[in-house]
Amino acid sequence: MTLKIPYEDQLHADTVAFLSAQPKQLLIGGRWTPSLSGKTFVTNEPSTGLPLAEVYEAQPEDVDLTVADARAAFEKWRKVTPYQRERLLHKLADLIEKHSQVLAEIETLDNGKPIGAALNIDVPSTVEMFRYYAGWPTKIEGGVKPVSIPNRLNYTLREPVGVVGTIIPWNFPLSMISWKLGPALAAGNCVILKPAEQTPLSAVYFCELAIQAGFPEGVISLLNGAGEVTGAALVAHPGVDKIAFTGSTEVGRLIMKAAAGNLKRVSLELGGKSPHIIFDDADLETAIPYAAGSIFGNAGQSCNAGSRLLVQRKVYEQVVEAVANSAMHIRVGVGMDVGTDMGPLTSLEHYQRVTRYIELGQQAGASVRFGAQRPSGVPQGGYFVSPTIFENTTDDMAVVREEIFGPVLVATVFDTLEEVAQRANNTPYGLAAGVWTRDISRAHQLAGMLAAGTVWVNCYYQFDPSSPFGGYKQSGFGRDMGHEALEQYLNTKSVWVGL
Ligand code: ADP
Repeated sequence: MTLKIPYEDQLHADTVAFLSAQPKQLLIGGRWTPSLSGKTFVTNEPSTGLPLAEVYEAQPEDVDLTVADARAAFEKWRKVTPYQRERLLHKLADLIEKHSQVLAEIETLDNGKPIGAALNIDVPSTVEMFRYYAGWPTKIEGGVKPVSIPNRLNYTLREPVGVVGTIIPWNFPLSMISWKLGPALAAGNCVILKPAEQTPLSAVYFCELAIQAGFPEGVISLLNGAGEVTGAALVAHPGVDKIAFTGSTEVGRLIMKAAAGNLKRVSLELGGKSPHIIFDDADLETAIPYAAGSIFGNAGQSCNAGSRLLVQRKVYEQVVEAVANSAMHIRVGVGMDVGTDMGPLTSLEHYQRVTRYIELGQQAGASVRFGAQRPSGVPQGGYFVSPTIFENTTDDMAVVREEIFGPVLVATVFDTLEEVAQRANNTPYGLAAGVWTRDISRAHQLAGMLAAGTVWVNCYYQFDPSSPFGGYKQSGFGRDMGHEALEQYLNTKSVWVGL
């Protein structure tokens, strides 16, 4: 298939070279290879809707081959010393940093996000994550246990679980690679990476860098393909020891069931409908940009987006007016244009889903404070939506209850702390929450009351490799980042010695 490279004159020569070499292959046992069936799929460029690249799609027989190679590789990889694993992870981080521009361009073209965000957030945070986990291999320790049986020595060994399948979403493709592969590799596992079919490309470039860094054959494999084909085969495979997944709650549920065959371990980071709570004593000047940024950043395509804004009555009108004003000033456009604040949504299917929710909100009687129409001046065929704010909603409306995963905010008023805690928790999700108040006791009280894996007080969207992130309730279980994530990629062996 001959494809025209979009925005070619704005791209780094290496990006053009990368996109020119197609179809993109699978990485199996350290070799780039087509799928056995020769089957491919196409990924689109979201600002035009036009095809961007053709990619080989892994079928179950490719998954079988990959798992067999990864299992064989694991037997050698587990003997590689912790220090050598550290060196490899550091080298990989250095290479990602060195190729930041190309990785950012690939991410922008495939996902739609503004190039500035890809370059200043996605890529550097990926580098930082790999550096953080590069520090771990030499610090993973077992312990000697104070057992009370005479003449017995008991100690623990921490061992990698084996072959890990990582299934990731399309909203932050590169960052998600680092969240999963950082701890999995640091712990000494072999990893089979299954990116989202909407954004397969940065993973290909990433794997080219991993080979350059010197990771042994079969330690990192790449299987692009559809969730229900490639992903499902990986999850059901008896040779896979663990699945680390980030994606929708619906697919998380399927994965948990499908993993039951060999009782593989599962960690699931799923959807959210996070409350963003602003009390009337808050520092509004700081809170307002965060309230807007938490839902309109990445076009709302974040599992932890602050999608439900709850504002205390006295300042409600002032806050919502200011957030609407911020929305009005967001420049919606092509990701490759440096002036763009918000790019298109990532896929046509998702565009249709988000616009459907906007219609549903209106049909249910919610009033539109801002947006709910196609932005002007954007390319035809692109998946663009305006930042949208709904008001006068009730807590049972679909736009209030369900994850939209787009730049759609519902704003409501509240009066008391007890009321807001109850309403904030009135959701099947429990990923994150934001609280703005100058009252320190109220802040801590609410942090304790909120059923969410992360609570941000007087800030939002703070991430650090050392701080664990994950869900309560149907937002999943298990944690990404921190030593908490590392634990999930390790087994504990208890060794008894008769003295
Ligand atoms: P979204 O709804 O945001 O697209 P999904 O949960 O559908 O998120 O997708 C997240 C990841 O899960 C993607 O890599 C996708 O290919 C994969 N996936 C989808 N369905 C399945 C499935 N049945 N089994 C395994 N992986 C799947």
